[in-house]
Amino acid sequence: MRALQWTGPEKVQINDIPVPDIGPTELLLKVGAAGVCHSDLTLVNFPIQLRENPLTLGHEIAGTIEAVGSDVSGREIGERGVVYLFWTCGVCRECVSGNENVCLAAGRVAMPPCPGLTVEGGMSEYARIPASSFVPIGDLDFIQAAPVADAALTAYHAIRGAREALRPGGTAVAIGIGGLGHVAVQILRAISGVRVIAVDQARAKLDLAADCGAELGILSGDDTAEQILDLTDGRGADAVFDFVGVDSTAKLACETVAPNGAYRMVGIGGGAPDITAGPAGGPGWPWGATVRKSLGGTRGDLHACVALAQAGKLRMEVERFDLAEGPDVFRRLDAGRIRGRAVLVP
Ligand code: NAD
Ligand code: ZN
Repeated sequence: MRALQWTGPEKVQINDIPVPDIGPTELLLKVGAAGVCHSDLTLVNFPIQLRENPLTLGHEIAGTIEAVGSDVSGREIGERGVVYLFWTCGVCRECVSGNENVCLAAGRVAMPPCPGLTVEGGMSEYARIPASSFVPIGDLDFIQAAPVADAALTAYHAIRGAREALRPGGTAVAIGIGGLGHVAVQILRAISGVRVIAVDQARAKLDLAADCGAELGILSGDDTAEQILDLTDGRGADAVFDFVGVDSTAKLACETVAPNGAYRMVGIGGGAPDITAGPAGGPGWPWGATVRKSLGGTRGDLHACVALAQAGKLRMEVERFDLAEGPDVFRRLDAGRIRGRAVLVP
């Protein structure tokens, strides 16, 4: 079968590999679509080799069950679904509390096993997955469903975790209106009642944000913080969702989050927010504001996102490509030339 594989620093190519065999607790999925995330690009472009290669990429996987392992019950050949992002132990106290994204087995700073980033992924004709990771999607289109597995899941988890700060009449800022950001705008609209201000460095991405329901769009520049403060009577935004995560966006978030507000770092651009324990009245981090480095989402979050997509409340903006175009799609994403999410079809 054809698979899009990472084969070393800055190398991504189509290889012909065997269809995987499955174990007793696994499923073989015939892949219908696989989304391309900026995290894939980060892995591929990372100057030092983080993992063993070749590694089949792809952590946003949607498809049809082709074969069922001998010990699996409750799943049938022909069922359609998406794959949960983290292949966790399922039995530790975090997993059983519904915090699978911070499964104890992953340790303190690692990520639980994740297809396409740490174990074999789904940018291929078939994928071997744990049966426990399969979430049914009914008749949802695969191209719409694939980005739900991460772009929607991760945005939803960050937003859900900030819900105390998100009250009707408030304001949320979304920085970076790409694959994750354009879905975040829609989730904020669907579940919170806040006004959404979108920030991006590209005008076209602000147009996409407006299509997704953002009330205002600001092209990032020297006066972005000032504009956000002006729009919020000097108080700042109740929540800032940063889908870039570089120093400049971390600075922007710190300068614009309101007292008791929420800053959620989702982008993994290496940015370091300055959270100063300063004196009253001094500059810096406002009283009561929280910050979280948000990772993916939980199984429950994935079910919620699938439900929102099935109800027509989330509409992924997708650009569809054949799997064979994968290497070029990575170059396009790197150049900022994808609107919404790129999705590969094997
Ligand atoms: P993307 O490439 O689709 O979108 C990024 C957007 O940010 C683009 O619209 C781009 O124009 C904009 N942008 C880039 N630099 C900017 C800047 N300095 N100021 C303003 N806008 C800027 O990326 P994506 O797939 O949506 O992923 C977003 C980030 O989230 C990436 O860092 C990715 O690795 C990360 N991510 C994190 C998790 C997690 O669990 N924490 C999960 C998935 C993705
Ligand atoms: Zn991702």
